[in-house]
Amino acid sequence: MLFRAWRRPLSRLATVQHILNRRAGLSLHSIQRFQHTSPARVRFAPSPTGYLHLGGLRTALYNYLLAKKTNGSFILRIEDTDRTRLVEGATDKLISALSWAGVEADEGPRQGGPHSPYFQSQRTDIYRHHAQYLIDNGHAYRCFCTPDRLDDMRKEQSKRGRRIAYDRRCASLTNEQIEKNLAMDMPFTVRLKTPKGMTQIDDFLHGKVNFNNAILDDSVLMKSDGYPTYHLANVVDDYLMGITHVLRGDEWLPSTPKHVLLYRAFGWEAPQFIHLPLLLNKDGTKLSKRSGDVHVEQYIDKGYFPEAVANFVALLGWAPPNAEEEIFTMDELLEKFDLAGLNKSQAVVSLEKLDWINKQHLLKRAQTAQGLQSMVDYLVPVIRNRFTNSVPGGEASPRLEPTYIKNVLVTMKERIRNVMDIADMCPYFFVEPAYDTEQASALRKKLKPNAIAAVNKEETRRMLEALAPFDAEKINEFFQQIAADNNAKVNHVQMAMRYAMTGTNVGAAVNSTMALLGKSTCVDRLARSF
Ligand code: GLU
Repeated sequence: MLFRAWRRPLSRLATVQHILNRRAGLSLHSIQRFQHTSPARVRFAPSPTGYLHLGGLRTALYNYLLAKKTNGSFILRIEDTDRTRLVEGATDKLISALSWAGVEADEGPRQGGPHSPYFQSQRTDIYRHHAQYLIDNGHAYRCFCTPDRLDDMRKEQSKRGRRIAYDRRCASLTNEQIEKNLAMDMPFTVRLKTPKGMTQIDDFLHGKVNFNNAILDDSVLMKSDGYPTYHLANVVDDYLMGITHVLRGDEWLPSTPKHVLLYRAFGWEAPQFIHLPLLLNKDGTKLSKRSGDVHVEQYIDKGYFPEAVANFVALLGWAPPNAEEEIFTMDELLEKFDLAGLNKSQAVVSLEKLDWINKQHLLKRAQTAQGLQSMVDYLVPVIRNRFTNSVPGGEASPRLEPTYIKNVLVTMKERIRNVMDIADMCPYFFVEPAYDTEQASALRKKLKPNAIAAVNKEETRRMLEALAPFDAEKINEFFQQIAADNNAKVNHVQMAMRYAMTGTNVGAAVNSTMALLGKSTCVDRLARSF
């Protein structure tokens, strides 16, 4: 054992339990769901190269849930040693997006912790020290090949149809040659000396997977710029930080045998690996930037609720104990989540499903005064920014009274999937409707002339003004009345009235809409519309 005799009896237990379950013929989804109960130390280890991806949020969430569930710790570690791919501000954005979704780290760049620093770029001495250990013990070697030499080698290999891999020229340098090169300050990388044979990994979802070491290449562990590569830094930190479970995307599965070789070389026990299935588009292609909204920030901007996005990503690769039940708050996820529900089949990202989940959370919020208030608080600045000074009817500022917005929400909640729909679909609640839009003209063409005539006359306006109380029921009676007086159909009258009040056919029932708008607004709009 090197540096620290660190043992993981707890993670061992988890593994043993899993194997026993499998031996007993229990599938992962059998009734006796596999529960990990001892404290797990887990980590999310993003490279700050851009925005937080939906898949990244899922990985972070599962790690977080496992940590909370087991009274363990969730660590955020920033893997920023590839200095060429760094994006300014990316770490802050990642942390904000995680925090928005309710995924807070116990240890990390913001909160610090016993293993500070949590930026790998600030831990280079540690990796250098470990690389030296590997060299000293024959598990790694210095490679002095120049980029040009490596380039020529690869070209040659590809010309001959050979596998592209380091040809190990520097693996057999004599001590003398090495000393000479070092004395000349020749830049070098440190490469893993991959042993011959096979490497087996034991993954919680994939089971035992064997890799032929011949395909592993002698990966670079330390670059000539003094920074480690992902493989070395990741393994060293996972060990030093006491990580018990590595939950990460399937794209890292091919790297895992290299990690296992490193654990062995150091004499350390590897953590439990759990590789999560890839996220796919509906057409079966890998979810990528090109497929539209893959960044969590895009969902934040579009008004999705954090609990809905968390709920949505939780279901991409995890099946709740009761398949019928799919809507969970973060607290409910904490209660239900367990490793046994993870599955290895690739998960299709359906935005319709996200919309549906968001709607369920919207209805949930609408059930409590606090939930309603949270939506009002969200909408007030949105409406202010959207509609101030952009008012077609010439009104100076949009209607922003919180009680009014709350009533709009209550009236519209069954018809929307996202709070933002209120601003997108129903501007007429806040500003005067525009009657000169394409949509308004199309609607006007559909109106029956006798209904327009019935609605657009002095007598009707007077009746509307006299209506009391100005509530949905009374307004309905008024529709019946003018339909009867003018020999028109009630639904034709309602349609003409909807046009006058909103300029669109989108919204709640016309009588409820009018009751919300209030009498004076309705009287004004009726006078102005036709
Ligand atoms: N830095 C890697 C990433 O960007 C971490 C992968 C892992 O979790 O091991 O995803």
